[in-house]
This record gives sequence, C-alpha cells and structure tokens, in this order.
Amino acid sequence: MKKKVIVAIDGPSSSGKSTIAKLVAKHFNFTYVDSGSIYRAITYIAIKNNLIKTGDIDVVSLIDLLNNCSISFSFNSDNQNIIKLDGVSVENEIRTFEISNNVSLIAEKNEIRKYVLKIQKDISNNKSVVMDGRDIGSVVFPNADFKFFLDASIDVRASRRWNELKSIEKDLKFKEVKKDLLKRDKKDVNRKYSPLIRSKDSILINSNELEISEVVDIIIDIIETEIKIK
Ligand code: C5P
Repeated sequence: MKKKVIVAIDGPSSSGKSTIAKLVAKHFNFTYVDSGSIYRAITYIAIKNNLIKTGDIDVVSLIDLLNNCSISFSFNSDNQNIIKLDGVSVENEIRTFEISNNVSLIAEKNEIRKYVLKIQKDISNNKSVVMDGRDIGSVVFPNADFKFFLDASIDVRASRRWNELKSIEKDLKFKEVKKDLLKRDKKDVNRKYSPLIRSKDSILINSNELEISEVVDIIIDIIETEIKIK
C-alpha cells in the first residue's frame, strides 16, 4: 500500500460522517481526525471569553487568545483524536447544543479557517488519515486519495442528532434540533470562505435508506479495491 493515504469525508451536519469516518479509520488503522472538533473548541474558547455578542464575534481578540493557547490532540487506543485545550480534554464541553448553535459563526471567518487549516495539515503530516468535515476534499486536501460526500434528508439527520443529544439535554425538542441543523446547513453552504460543497471528484453516498455499517462497508470496499489495483 502507498505510504500515506488521505481519505476525505465531507457532508452536512449529522450526515453520519464522524461515526462512519471513525469506523473506516479503525478498519485501516489510519488516524481519525474530526475537523469539526477544532471549530467547536474555538467556539468554546470564544463563549468562555465572552467574545460572541449579538451574533457577532470579536475575531481580533479571539485570534489573540488562540495564539496564546494550545489546541492539540492526543490519540486513544483506537487512533481517534481527543481534542485538548492547553493539555486538558474538552471532548465533552464542545458537544453541547450551545456550541452547535454558535459554531458556524466561528467557521465562517477566514482568519479562523486559516488557523484551523494549519492544525489540519500538521496533524496529517506523515500519517494516513481519515478526516471528516465540510471542506476536506475541496480545500484542505484537494488531492486526497479518496473523497466521499455523505448526505441524508433533513428529517433523517435531525432525528439522528436529537437521539444523540436527548440523553444529555433532556428538554431538547426535535423541532429545535431540526431548526439548528437547517440554520447550520444554510450558513455552511452560503458562507464566503470554504463553503460546504460537493467536489466533482467525490463519491456521493446518501444514507437515508442505509445503516451506518452499510455505508462503512461501501467505503471500505471502494478503498480496498482501489488499493489492490494500484
Ligand atoms: O462536524 P461538526 O458538526 O462537529 O462541525 C461543527 C461545525 O464546524 C459545522 O457546523 C461547520 O460550521 C464547521 N466546520 C467547518 N469545516 C469543517 C468542519 C466543520 O466549517 N471542515
């Protein structure tokens, strides 16, 4: 097999990307990188430091803070990333509804995207990775060896997300989750820098009628077939 393989998995929120990417990475013993977790960690820093006010962000102060803290990853026994701020895991803190609700405000800023791009490149240096996100195949790794674009209808995605969140946020309503997803989709697709788009050379998989394991098998088959041919 080629020394270093990059697998890009993009798609809208709750299209199953991270669960699927983790399983694909595990199968090949590649490193899994959840790029959304970096945007979430930055949103966590912005909220903690009161830098988001009435829907706007103090980007200058945020970049200043980012230059003075460290966002790093450690890897667990399954080669999955655990995101850390100044050495402390924030995996749980970044998964709340409040972070989800504010993250696309952060992700639309070009200065922030440039900062994240460097982390994404550094982490993939000399490693085979499966990275999921919105712009992995289009901007971060336009020459990725494999590009997949996962999609599903808004109702399927909202119900997956609601099922995930309702164990930790009991009062959360399905319609709030659906509204948040629609808002994030709109922002991710329409933003000026690195919008969510399907690259022409990506393989589209719609998971409306598929189980997670079926999507994982499709992706693994495609990668294995290609690797055998090479
Ligand atoms: O994947 P996840 O939902 O955790 O990502 C959180 C947010 O981060 C997304 O809604 C999107 O706005 C942003 N994001 C991005 N580009 C990526 C990954 C995530 O803009 N590559």
